[in-house]
Amino acid sequence: MSGSAALASDIARPIIAIVGRPNVGKSSLFNRLIGRRRALVRDVPGVTRDRLYGQVEFERWRATAVDTGGFDPGSVEPLVEGVRRQILVAVDEADLVLMVVDAWDGVTALDEEIARVLRRSGRPVVLIANKVDAAGQEPALSEFYRLGLGEPVAVSAEHGRGVAEMLETVRARCPRPAPAPAASAETPHIAVIGRPNVGKSSLVNAIIGAERVLVHSEPGTTRDAVDTTLVYRDRPYVLIDTAGIRRKGRVSEPLEKLAVVMALKSLERCQVALVMLDASEGLTAQDAHIAGYADAAGRASVIVVNKWDLVPPGMVRKAEVVDQIRDRLPFLGYAPICFTSATRAEGVAELFEAIDTVAAEARRRVPAPAVTATLQQALGRRPMSIAGVPLTIQSANQVATGPPTFAVRVNKPGEIHFSYERYLINALRRAFAFTGSPIRLSFRRAVGPRGRRLRR
Ligand code: GDP
Repeated sequence: MSGSAALASDIARPIIAIVGRPNVGKSSLFNRLIGRRRALVRDVPGVTRDRLYGQVEFERWRATAVDTGGFDPGSVEPLVEGVRRQILVAVDEADLVLMVVDAWDGVTALDEEIARVLRRSGRPVVLIANKVDAAGQEPALSEFYRLGLGEPVAVSAEHGRGVAEMLETVRARCPRPAPAPAASAETPHIAVIGRPNVGKSSLVNAIIGAERVLVHSEPGTTRDAVDTTLVYRDRPYVLIDTAGIRRKGRVSEPLEKLAVVMALKSLERCQVALVMLDASEGLTAQDAHIAGYADAAGRASVIVVNKWDLVPPGMVRKAEVVDQIRDRLPFLGYAPICFTSATRAEGVAELFEAIDTVAAEARRRVPAPAVTATLQQALGRRPMSIAGVPLTIQSANQVATGPPTFAVRVNKPGEIHFSYERYLINALRRAFAFTGSPIRLSFRRAVGPRGRRLRR
């Protein structure tokens, strides 16, 4: 076993949501928690303002803090409703909630309402009494016990007072993550390929930085650890060759040739290829070139249209982009298409869904009788003769996965035209899907009752 699994518990990242009524200091607390690290802004449907995500590091413990944002002052919605909705969204994704109150204001009606929603949620809550700026100036905190959330922790988000003690409490109260499943040969091994600057390293970083992602091994921890093992929604994945991708500096003149070499190298080891395109630039010849390698290598593929944020809303519809890709990359017609913005970490959930689908499909086996029947029916619909002799299909069965490969016993192997082979592949595709994977046929000579070769 690699050392990566041992690291898992050290770097598991719970999600901590910060909630509270306006002006209690939620944003100050958020900024205090994430320090100098950059916050990620994200839109959440149904919530008036963007939410901020940031990494919290405390000794060797890490967490993701979420600032649920304020409430739109222009909203006609009653404040209580806005607060309630905001909190329900926050609680939904959080492992632990920090409820912030103003130590000097005492308990307000809105605090009571928030506490009520939180108590019902069943999530662990740490009550934070903010604005306790100096020793000897401590307001009476006993009143806050009334909220039913236990002992309030006094802090000054503004001055940093009490923050370390607060983090100790939070760390102790955070539910421990379940032991993560370790990677195995079955684990989807994913390569991100594409020409320079389409956003490969940005995507890798977005995936690694996404909340709910648990990174087992960082590239570079040992000399040849170029793969990153991670767990997303309780499933393990391996991102391969991430060192090459992530370490890439600001090379102003990217070597196009190198991109091809890297793509070929990582295609050798992956099961799933993310074929990345740049939505702002459209499809180039090199995109098609690299995509062709994924098909030729027999890998399960997902086409990723990145930088979707650069396409002005309403200018181009996704359906048009899909049509264009299908037109320009007809050989990848089996690959699902996802839209992402790596820099905004958008589209990651959908991307993982597609990865799961194509990985499962690439491993699927279908029974021989169904395969034989499908191909014989296709032949019946479109009979074929080779040098005057009608083609016959004796039997067919799946001999390999990743990519699904079928041995087809026929009377004339080696003489079947490419276009007819494609017709048969399409018949299998309609019957069994194998989404994401190329389908391969291997024509073999029909055999007699005891396995003897048939003449003719
Ligand atoms: P790579 O060469 O394929 O690894 O590309 P990088 O990840 O280095 O990205 C190239 C440039 O595109 C960088 O300046 C990124 O910030 C930018 N970029 C990457 N993904 C996105 C995206 O989704 N949206 C926008 N607007 N810019 C992006």
